[in-house]
Amino acid sequence: MARKNSVLNLSTVEFTHNDNGTVTAHFVNHIDGHEKVKTYKTERAAQGAATRFHNRVNRIYENGVMIAGRAYEYRKSIFCRNLSPVIVSDNMSGKMENIPSISTSCLRNKFCEARRKDGNSICAHCFAAATLNMRETVGENTEINFDLLTSEILPDDLLPVFHAGVEIARFESFGDIANIIQAVNYINIARKNPHVTFGWWTKNTAIVTAAFDKYSKPDNIVMIQSARFLNQSETPVNAYFDKVFTVYTPAFIADHNVSVNCGARDCDTCRRCYNVNNTETTVNEVLK
Ligand code: SF4
Repeated sequence: MARKNSVLNLSTVEFTHNDNGTVTAHFVNHIDGHEKVKTYKTERAAQGAATRFHNRVNRIYENGVMIAGRAYEYRKSIFCRNLSPVIVSDNMSGKMENIPSISTSCLRNKFCEARRKDGNSICAHCFAAATLNMRETVGENTEINFDLLTSEILPDDLLPVFHAGVEIARFESFGDIANIIQAVNYINIARKNPHVTFGWWTKNTAIVTAAFDKYSKPDNIVMIQSARFLNQSETPVNAYFDKVFTVYTPAFIADHNVSVNCGARDCDTCRRCYNVNNTETTVNEVLK
């Protein structure tokens, strides 16, 4: 049955109850005509997603912006002094607690999807994919950022501006770069915030290299090449990459005497990956 929100008919969500007990929701945003279909394990989860969607479309109607044919709401973050359609996470947990993060969804990224299918790849153990499947709101936010950041080079006045006291931030906690447009948006965000040092993790080194070749690398980006395979470090592909981040199993660490220098508990205290003057070129972490 279709459920509409308000007499304005800004959005509708139609549910289909499947034989296996799952519920498929068909979302339509009538402001921009964008549609999405997603299946949920329970009716409750589908209803929750519908409520979030209707509320989001209402907020877009109140204060939104069209980019590449899609409507986005202006979002606030405790780390930023302006409203921006770019979502800056301010509720990261674990070692990322207190670190602002701008991330896209690995579930939308075709490079991530291909790597997850390769059993030898570190992506076969992807903690981000599991998190996004489990935490619906984070999944929705990173999908919105994916659509926004990969579709168009954003005008300067739409980029997030961090408060003067913000010193470090991360690009990509749950995904990776998907195209050169996204890379240019990250470069422009870094240029707009010269007081912030951005740690930027990627396995898609070719896209980042092409972007830096054309637009140059800002001084406040620490570029981290994320090794593609478990227990296999890599050599930086070129001088744009400051560090290689490798994940090791406890057994491999014990057998090969690998030195683990990622505390994996608190990036804000450690800051090894967010310091342009830190000359350690390898960062090693234990598989979680
Ligand atoms: S080395 Fe430090 S800054 Fe880098 S990911 Fe590990 S805890 Fe965070």
